[in-house]
Amino acid sequence: MVRSSSYACALLAGALFGCADGGSPVAPAAPASARVAAGAGAGLVQVPTLQTSAEPAGVPGATRRFDITLRFVVPLSAGQRAAFNGAASRWEHVIIGDKPAITGTIPAGFCGLPGVPAFTGTIDDILIDVVVVPIDGPGGALAVSGPCAVRLSDELPAYGIMFFDAADVSDLEQIGLLNDVVTHEMAHVLGFGTLWSFGRSLLADAGGADPTFDGHGANVFFNVLHGAGPVPVENIGGPETADNHWRESVFGNELMTGFIAPGANPLSSVSTASMRDLGYTVAPLSEPYRLPVASASVRALTAAPGLNLTAGEQLIGPVGGIR
Ligand SMILES: [Zn+2]
Repeated sequence: MVRSSSYACALLAGALFGCADGGSPVAPAAPASARVAAGAGAGLVQVPTLQTSAEPAGVPGATRRFDITLRFVVPLSAGQRAAFNGAASRWEHVIIGDKPAITGTIPAGFCGLPGVPAFTGTIDDILIDVVVVPIDGPGGALAVSGPCAVRLSDELPAYGIMFFDAADVSDLEQIGLLNDVVTHEMAHVLGFGTLWSFGRSLLADAGGADPTFDGHGANVFFNVLHGAGPVPVENIGGPETADNHWRESVFGNELMTGFIAPGANPLSSVSTASMRDLGYTVAPLSEPYRLPVASASVRALTAAPGLNLTAGEQLIGPVGGIR
């Protein structure tokens, strides 16, 4: 489910990926490839330059809550920085449990994407590199997102990346959807979709006609919202959409479907509980949300055309583990 795509092929040509003549990506030969197949995790290599350390007392950021640190690799406008910081804040309200700090060096280009410098220092609790560069202009490629290094103790990420096309970031900012899109992509860095089958078995019928999310917490809250049966995962839209998002036909404007709609895109209790199912300590918080009325005729009258987020999205998986 987490894979390379044709636009990433163009993006990464000359980096880790090669491209076939037809533009289809060719699996990279380098062991540093960031692409991980479903069910991976067993072959994860330890990152020797990073190690878990004692929580440094008195150091800013070493709090007892879960902290997301963003590193803006390329300067952004104040408005764009606010959208990214706002997305981090949105998730820090939901995920609250502190993780052990990690100290050391992340080599340059660790995630397999170009232009990302090395990092040396302490990570508490996750470092996300934010790269916004010209890729292919408006539309097309939007973002490459995912976790790059996980703690071996719990297989939750300590380092990840959000690599955006500058033209799309500018357009999304202008129409007021940048914060929602970044919050969505940040969820993938934290493990939504990208770690469901990574050392866990949270996704049932992957690649099938009716994939579902098996996490207990998400199913409890889906039931509270009067959802029927196990939480439906997207089953259409190609490999970047299917198996990695909630099913649009059931969840409508929820943030973690493959579509972002004009107006509100709330983070439901199902999404926040799915983070608990991944292993995070989660606050019992969510944004106001109701499942759409399950009537095709009503949906036809109320459905808003949304931005097909996943058409331009590529998800990546971890390449390294931290002991
Ligand atoms: Zn997505």
